[in-house]
Amino acid sequence: MTDKELRVSKIRDGTVIDHVTAGQALNVLAILGIDGSGGESVSIGMNVPSDKVGYKDVVKVEGRELSQSEVDVLSLIAPEATINIIRDFEVAEKNRVEQTDTVRGILVCPNHNCITNADEPVRTEFEVLGDGVRCAYCDTIIREGDVAEHIDARGSGETAL
Ligand SMILES: [Zn+2]
Repeated sequence: MTDKELRVSKIRDGTVIDHVTAGQALNVLAILGIDGSGGESVSIGMNVPSDKVGYKDVVKVEGRELSQSEVDVLSLIAPEATINIIRDFEVAEKNRVEQTDTVRGILVCPNHNCITNADEPVRTEFEVLGDGVRCAYCDTIIREGDVAEHIDARGSGETAL
């Protein structure tokens, strides 16, 4: 444990998302569907000096582990992130995010005529390209830098009714 890691308080059970690309912490919370209304205990470090990547963000969420969909979308905006699962104050698992071919849910298709935006229970699905993602239903492309703008505010990626 270095002094850098102590900048953000320890948690008992939950997830520490470390080495998040600096400036992306709030987008990470959006991916997790956390806006404060759910009562989760969250700590965020922004622009924390890092030996590895210059500056990084760190997000700690108490009492919460990440789903595969959340990890997949996270890989788009924070490809260097490491995910530490904390149980009883100890790191129980440490994983790097991995680039995937497909992300499901969480992102919203920008095409208003897309079936995923219709009044249908269709979960969004995007193919991951080198420089963005492409909707599996209508082929609309979200460029890499715009991905964060298309995170479903409710974190589910399912159609609002
Ligand atoms: Zn679409």
